[in-house]
Amino acid sequence: MEFKKVLLTEDEMPRQWYNILADIKMNPPLGPDGQPVKPEALAPVFPMNLIEQEVSPDRWIDIPEEVLKVLSIWRPSPLVRARALEKFLDTPARIYFKNEGVSPPGSHKPNTAVPQAYYNKVFGIEKLTTETGAGQWGSALSFACSQFGIECKVFMVRVSFDQKPYRKSMMEAWGGKCVASPSRETNAGRNVLENDPDTPGSLGIAISEAIEAAVSDESGKTRYSLGSVLNHVMLHQTIIGLEAKKQLEKIGEYPDVVIACAGGGSNFAGLAFPFVHDKINGKNIDIYPYEPTACPTLTKAPFVYDHGDTARYTPLLPMHSLGHAFVPPPIHAGGLRYHGMSPTVSQLVNEGIIEAKSATQLDAYKAGVIFARTEGFIPAPETNHALAGVIDAAKKAKEEAKEKVILFNWSGHGLIDLTAYDKYFSGELHNFVLTDAEMSESEKVFENFPKPQTLKSR
Ligand SMILES: *Cc1c(COP(=O)(O)O)cnc(C)c1O
Repeated sequence: MEFKKVLLTEDEMPRQWYNILADIKMNPPLGPDGQPVKPEALAPVFPMNLIEQEVSPDRWIDIPEEVLKVLSIWRPSPLVRARALEKFLDTPARIYFKNEGVSPPGSHKPNTAVPQAYYNKVFGIEKLTTETGAGQWGSALSFACSQFGIECKVFMVRVSFDQKPYRKSMMEAWGGKCVASPSRETNAGRNVLENDPDTPGSLGIAISEAIEAAVSDESGKTRYSLGSVLNHVMLHQTIIGLEAKKQLEKIGEYPDVVIACAGGGSNFAGLAFPFVHDKINGKNIDIYPYEPTACPTLTKAPFVYDHGDTARYTPLLPMHSLGHAFVPPPIHAGGLRYHGMSPTVSQLVNEGIIEAKSATQLDAYKAGVIFARTEGFIPAPETNHALAGVIDAAKKAKEEAKEKVILFNWSGHGLIDLTAYDKYFSGELHNFVLTDAEMSESEKVFENFPKPQTLKSR
């Protein structure tokens, strides 16, 4: 029988994460005074051990044993050859994916939720606050907190809270607490509701609420946790790409094309950064983050200094941004509705090391349904954007008659997103296109901020 999956034993799990900061030049985050933020200034928000990781220049960072123990509940994740999809597309390409949907919450997100909960626990923290878009991150952090015996409070973007009630049930099953954002529990939330009581909410608003809830807890035992964007999150996710590399090595393969969807950039970074490392060292690989056309952060928005949240609590981050007050259209891929992008992913796009692309909502769902009908698993709406890219790449390989090896990240399953599939099947889903006028309006917020430098890492 020809093989379908490449599996690693638990002994073969990577013991270190790869830190891309060792290999690229970055603009520093800036504080309110326009000067680089001192790590200590972030201490009310994050535990110091994670802040040290956030700024670490070390290329390889050890994964603690206790973290590996929890990750081993579902890791190493399978590398799967999408033979049925290849056949359907009639492509000479060989298509492989990492199935990150096998984790308890159903996505890649616990790869960082687990170490974040661990480092907070070790630092003496008793409660974490966070935001969630589609509910994937909130459920991942609730799961991770339950593993280490700490409390978890989640601010969930209103539109997803209404569309996906079962994500809240999952959070509660793991002992987490979840409220719709904007809420009346924080100044940030109340301010937004005063101006726009019917707002669908946004990740930017929910982040403000979660940070405020953490820093205003007088016990000093609460911190905030972010599920994407930051350097330490990208770092923790690299276990995906490091496993994939080992798995491909076992069958004598190496990718020509690497694809993942990008919301804040973490599942993309997780799969791609170990290959970016190879590309920086001379390998020839096409590496594509795919974002929604309705929220075109990397493909259309400028590289600027902007805040990561609507209430401007975060430092200024060097990133592609649609503006911190931007409320993305209510597409059914909540995890991709973010105005900004990871600074490291942004920097790689600027340097031309990776090339950002976008997919429309309808193309994404079309691709997701093709995948479900060939490979069986039903993908998350976010993952569907990567699949649209995979189908494009496979078609291109066919046109060029080239046996390309395509590797992509199957970032999560869509079993809690079936309402969105229902809407797709009944023709109620539409494409949103952001006009230039809307973009220049939303980008006014950072007009007067300092500008990042154009850096070349080599
Ligand atoms: C959250 C999420 C994403 C997007 O977040 P990134 O940080 O860009 O990875 C993608 N896919 C799934 C399944 C998600 O839950």
